[in-house]
Amino acid sequence: MAKVEIETLASELEALPSQVIHVITELGAYPENGAVEVDADTLSVVKEAVAEMVAAKEVALSPGATPRDIAHALNLGHVEVQKSLMQSGTLAALTTSLAPELAEQIVGSFGYRVRWAVLRKPKPEEEDAQKRRKRALGTRPRQPVVTILGHVDHGKTTLLDYIRRTKVAEREFGGITQHIGAYEVETDGRKITFLDTPGHEAFTAMRARGAQITDIAVLVVAADDGVMPQTIEAISHAKTADVPIVVAISKIDLPEANVDRVKQRLTEQDLVSGEFGGQTVMVPLSGKTGEGVDTLLELILLQADMMELKADPSGEVEAVVVEARLDKGRGPVATILVENGTLKQGDAVLVGHSWGKIKAMFDYAGERIKDAGPAIPAEITGLDQVPEAGDRLSVFLDEKQLRERAAHLRAEERERLLEGRGTRVSLADLQRRLEEGETKELRIIVKADVRGSVEAVRGLIEAIENAEIQVKVLHSAVGTVNDNDVLLASASGAMIVAFNTKTETQAKEQAGQQRVEIRHYKVIYELIEDIEQAVIGMLEPKYEERYLGRAEVRAAFKLTKVGHVAGCYVSDGKIVRGAKCRVRRDGEIVHEGQIASLKHIKEDMKEVQAGYECGIQFENWTGFKESDEIEAFESVQVNA
Ligand code: GDP
Repeated sequence: MAKVEIETLASELEALPSQVIHVITELGAYPENGAVEVDADTLSVVKEAVAEMVAAKEVALSPGATPRDIAHALNLGHVEVQKSLMQSGTLAALTTSLAPELAEQIVGSFGYRVRWAVLRKPKPEEEDAQKRRKRALGTRPRQPVVTILGHVDHGKTTLLDYIRRTKVAEREFGGITQHIGAYEVETDGRKITFLDTPGHEAFTAMRARGAQITDIAVLVVAADDGVMPQTIEAISHAKTADVPIVVAISKIDLPEANVDRVKQRLTEQDLVSGEFGGQTVMVPLSGKTGEGVDTLLELILLQADMMELKADPSGEVEAVVVEARLDKGRGPVATILVENGTLKQGDAVLVGHSWGKIKAMFDYAGERIKDAGPAIPAEITGLDQVPEAGDRLSVFLDEKQLRERAAHLRAEERERLLEGRGTRVSLADLQRRLEEGETKELRIIVKADVRGSVEAVRGLIEAIENAEIQVKVLHSAVGTVNDNDVLLASASGAMIVAFNTKTETQAKEQAGQQRVEIRHYKVIYELIEDIEQAVIGMLEPKYEERYLGRAEVRAAFKLTKVGHVAGCYVSDGKIVRGAKCRVRRDGEIVHEGQIASLKHIKEDMKEVQAGYECGIQFENWTGFKESDEIEAFESVQVNA
């Protein structure tokens, strides 16, 4: 490996620094402080690729590029780019995204051509079965469904409000009167559906319930604040869900806004904007002034085009609840998003555990509609109870069948609640799933006290190698284990390891409910060892004996109907029915087994305390004698 200065390499190849950076980042390395470490082979590949770009006079830009990006790509001062813009009759701020044709024209005026960074297109092998099915269902293009994620106060709500205020088609009775959880906007004659509960909590809660309705995530990052903890969380959530991210760098109207710094920080999170050779669309904008919002919408549509979103309006109806509530006048009301097929007024539906006949349907603006097709949000009434967000809807042709199914589901749910069952995510359980071939991936979330230990733990976990099983760190961050970590874990079947840090009380409760395992460690090698053991399938349950008590056999007798009974006196602790036991005679163990029944006088007992007499019968053993000593203990799993 050798350290290569970007500037030096660029001048050696008579190239622009941006061309070198583009090629290097495309190969998966990121320059730091103007230099990058590469081996000799990579270096020759880099040189060749840069030479090609130089010969073709190409510079890389990603859709949404600003005059500043162009200046950066061409290694020119801002003023020169502004001059060229003015000559073409345009006035644009440094941070305004330019239309692609205009960007090409400006770059052309300096003798270069634009190599547009390609947007992420999911590879077939990246898609999971569910999504493949979803795409296979489709024959007709459909509009994208978008969720807005990002750190608190970075402007998510402001952006959503701006879009709603300005882009929702004006209706006769004027705009939207109430939030129903989703709305549609129209731009250039095409539609986008926005889910209007911003934040990854809602996004992940839905996913935890098996509902993935978001096609594209807009990550809002404030230009005056940059990448913050929830920004990183949101990125992890979107990546785990395999949802492409479009970055909105917000608040560019503020004097302290620094778009470039945000872009650089995002590079560290593997979100690399086009001019750095990456494939992530980044749009500078302001939710206050509206600058850049049109570009954002255009680029969302462009991303959607790449994804070839499809559905079949005449196919089987599939829909998911986005929001639901009890309305005083109308009873249970649910906003649903149709994924496939067309839902109609009058349809008999089962929604989670509630059911009914759709009495009325409304669109996001509160207008009556008769049906709703794919990606279209609609409010429905007529259900017998309020469903939950994330519940799935299915249509029944036979109403009687629907009733039976609903009754059955409710009975099952009651049983489940009583038993406290659920899907448990623990190391031991993951091991079982690995063994049974249910999963080939051990997913882990890492939380630790300081950045150094986060990186150390993450690095060591990722270094664990196994031919069949992949160990994947979904998210790692400094701090205590919080609600969001638990949600992410539960949604993606991951476990959480906490190194030198605690779990917040609320998160602990939630982990209990969702049955997510959180393991705390103070010693790094113990943590790694546990994970290694889980991977190689060696994490056997470890049991520890816990002493319960002792009893002495005072008489051995036989009762008709009952059989052989040891008449005993409990001398220490307690004897418990079903407990394991060892019987000693003159110090030597003569029997090991289990206590089958326990009586005091004639009464069946669960346990008998020291100082009392009792009758004991052993499981499959009658060889006891007077003066034998019985020791009772239980075995407790210590590594569960
Ligand atoms: P959220 O928590 O991400 O939904 O953030 P909000 O939309 O509630 O915005 C937080 C604060 O930032 C509010 O005071 C907004 O007025 C302000 N804000 C949001 N977007 C912008 C913007 O583009 N420019 C400016 N100057 N302020 C903004």
